[in-house]
Amino acid sequence: MVTLPLEGGCQCGALRYRVSLAPVMVYNCHCTNCQKIGGGGFSTPVTILEQGFSFVAGTPQKVECTSDAGNRRFGWFCGACGSRIAHGQTPSIGVLSLRGGTLDDTSWVEPVGDIWTRSAQPWVTFPPGRLTTEQQPADYAPFVAAFQAQGRFAS
Ligand SMILES: [Zn+2]
Ligand SMILES: [Zn+2]
Repeated sequence: MVTLPLEGGCQCGALRYRVSLAPVMVYNCHCTNCQKIGGGGFSTPVTILEQGFSFVAGTPQKVECTSDAGNRRFGWFCGACGSRIAHGQTPSIGVLSLRGGTLDDTSWVEPVGDIWTRSAQPWVTFPPGRLTTEQQPADYAPFVAAFQAQGRFAS
């Protein structure tokens, strides 16, 4: 079992955050925005409840963009080192996409599926049995259920 709160921060340590509520799900996102933002093949967002998230050191900078699905999104990042910490939506949908790699303890961060596979890099392979959607999932319920089945957090 993973103990709450979760803590993490940016590469240089100026920006630190705390997550006080159990995450909702973890997946990989292969959208073109994530490829640009992270400079790699995909991102590994940890979906968390907005009300359980707070910065405990530093003040984030904010950038806005339009997602591949056409939603208005914002990103919080460290103005000193540039690390992207989390993304949210405007208007709020109640959850944030925390960049999984910014957590202090990433040992439990295991994606249950892959989204936006239509823009995945050609060398990426998807393990059998893992959830996949070509674009934005119409319904995240299977992802949430698969994450709960991992049993990482007390419910
Ligand atoms: Zn930093
Ligand atoms: Zn993405």
